Amino acid sequence: MKTQHIEDIIDMQDELLEISEIEKMISDEEILEMYENKYSNKLYCLVMKSLTHEVYTKENIAKKTFERIIIHLNTLNKKLNRNVGLLVATLDYLQNIIKTLDEPKIIEENKSDVLLETSTIDELTTLYLRDIFDITIIKRVAESNRSKTPISLIMLDIDDFKVINDTYGHQKGDFVLNKIGEEINLSVRQMDMAARYGGEEFAILMPETRISTASKIAQRLRKKIKNIDFEEFKVTISLGVSQSDDEINTAQKLIEIADTYLYKAKENGKDRVEIYEKSN
Ligand code: GH3
Ligand code: MG
Ligand code: MG
Repeated sequence: MKTQHIEDIIDMQDELLEISEIEKMISDEEILEMYENKYSNKLYCLVMKSLTHEVYTKENIAKKTFERIIIHLNTLNKKLNRNVGLLVATLDYLQNIIKTLDEPKIIEENKSDVLLETSTIDELTTLYLRDIFDITIIKRVAESNRSKTPISLIMLDIDDFKVINDTYGHQKGDFVLNKIGEEINLSVRQMDMAARYGGEEFAILMPETRISTASKIAQRLRKKIKNIDFEEFKVTISLGVSQSDDEINTAQKLIEIADTYLYKAKENGKDRVEIYEKSN
């Protein structure tokens, strides 16, 4: 199956979309629908190939990356107060985020070298990878120090996840991770960054956000996840929330504090949010 999919993609290697066609696609739903019908499960691999001249083999990752590029395009347009265009946004996004990762691997294929995508997204949860988060949080905390605006961080961990794996199997555990990733994605705003921080631990970085707002988002997310219907069981999460200030002025400290409060939430009985409060 997988080999077949790679071959399909190699077959479409010579086919590229014009940048203007892709731009039309993102501004007009009917046109998008037309392309989706025409290319079905290969559309976003083709879009990414047309934009970057690199071969993307996984449609869901290509789609996610493309969505991030559109978000980046909108951010750039807003910041610069003009339309920078899709190509510039793509190059800027890939350069600023992907350049910091290792060189993509090249695998030999009989028809050509296929570049395996160096992804920014964790496939199971569709959230950002830890690597990307680690880079971004350093930049964002520095920005927040410069602009003197607060930045908040939520760290969260699934409660008793080992029991779910042990009782219902690893596949069910994976399904839970996927659903929770989906719920987190739905809960965050465009400027936030949600990442899979570890196995069943997640981080949500919220620039220009006070801890009071971050705490509300954390509580809402806790309730939403508790209400997901997994049929045989319920899943709860514990969350710790931190905010930058005069003392908490590095990425490391922001993470340490959120982690400390996450630990407190576990100690205090799980399925709860604990919030950093300045002692002085
Ligand atoms: P606590 O409430 O204290 O957080 O307990 P816990 O059981 O959630 O935490 P623990 O650290 O004991 O176990 C976490 C488990 O998560 C163990 C590990 O096998 C599982 N896990 C990590 N990554 C994955 C994954 O990708 N898929 C699945 N199915 N399980 C995973
Ligand atoms: Mg856990
Ligand atoms: Mg854990």
